[in-house]
Amino acid sequence: MSHTLDATFLRTQVAGILAAAGSSPAEADQVAANLVLANLSGHDSHGVGMLPRYIDAIAEGGLTPNAAVKVKVDIGTMMALDGQRGFGQIVGVQAMELGIARAKQHGSCIFTLSSAHHLGRIGHFAEMATAQGLVALHFVNVLSRPVVAPWGGGDGRFGTNPCCIGVPLAGAEPFLLDFATSRVAQGKMRVAHNKGEQVPDGYLIDEHGAPTNDPGVVVVPQSNGLFGALMTFGEHKGYGMAIACELLGGALTGGGTWHRPADAARSVVNGMLTVLIDPARLGTQASFEQEAREFVAWLRQSPPGAGFDAVQIAGEPERRARVERERDGIWLDDATWGEIVAAGAKVGVTVTV
Ligand code: NAD
Repeated sequence: MSHTLDATFLRTQVAGILAAAGSSPAEADQVAANLVLANLSGHDSHGVGMLPRYIDAIAEGGLTPNAAVKVKVDIGTMMALDGQRGFGQIVGVQAMELGIARAKQHGSCIFTLSSAHHLGRIGHFAEMATAQGLVALHFVNVLSRPVVAPWGGGDGRFGTNPCCIGVPLAGAEPFLLDFATSRVAQGKMRVAHNKGEQVPDGYLIDEHGAPTNDPGVVVVPQSNGLFGALMTFGEHKGYGMAIACELLGGALTGGGTWHRPADAARSVVNGMLTVLIDPARLGTQASFEQEAREFVAWLRQSPPGAGFDAVQIAGEPERRARVERERDGIWLDDATWGEIVAAGAKVGVTVTV
């Protein structure tokens, strides 16, 4: 059984649960809109399915409703920000607003954001920057049960550490590359497990370090009480990017890296290094616009490879999904919907379709 739900209905239900868990009405609406936008964008792993975890994290004290970003260091083009365990969908946006204003003022801004609760889809922040004509680079680490194995290793040692690059394209939608450095996002394994699906070779190792196709190895404890692990994308190269995200998003931000055994905490804490660049201030704006336009046109002239309709630019799949899901609704599997209903019950909200 499954549910296909309208985005507006979902936003209202999710906001109601968040408000009952302690968020102000404005915060509840903003977090709900962000989660539903992730579903609309095709990334169900970072959508409303995260809500039960957020509700548990609030109850455990790992996520603080109504927290705001705190400026710890401000030297103009560099800022160190503390998310104070607030909703990433709130403190991440506040941090970006501060950073965008600085990049507009000075031509660039580098900021660190530590101790943000789950930032969700990192592309959301790059979209804020590209909408203002800025280039954005984000390196993010994840403080939560370590689910990704180092290249050559046999168990999980770090998180799905996302990396995101947004580049505005004059007269066109931006290039928006936004990906987990794991072969696939952990949340997608939760979705696959809930659907009872197997996953392709090369995604996972089991609790003994052996290859497996069962997404359950990273979702539920295995026979020995341990979990399996996700592999990084791109073998040793993706592994290197994951470590760069841990060093930049975790160590450099002051938020911390993961170097301890897994615990059962439901919170997911992100650290993020962000670099913002205003191309207009580099003196290359005209050639940047022209070269980017000509390069993208050149890419699109490539004949479709076997199994493909056309070459795409990063960001296009998400934009297409938004149009389709706004029109057709958001499909949620029964397990995910059941978890949301149960999360509502925990805070006294009855959710019905
Ligand atoms: P993914 O594997 O679907 O890759 C997405 C990226 O690839 C997007 O930029 C997309 O536009 C591009 N893309 C997809 N198909 C393409 C094609 N055919 N041609 C060109 N480009 C294409 O995404 P993922 O790795 O599963 O990550 C999903 C989301 O999870 C991201 O938004 C990421 O930020 C988020 N995430 C967040 C955290 C966190 O802790 N906050 C951790 C991990 C991942």
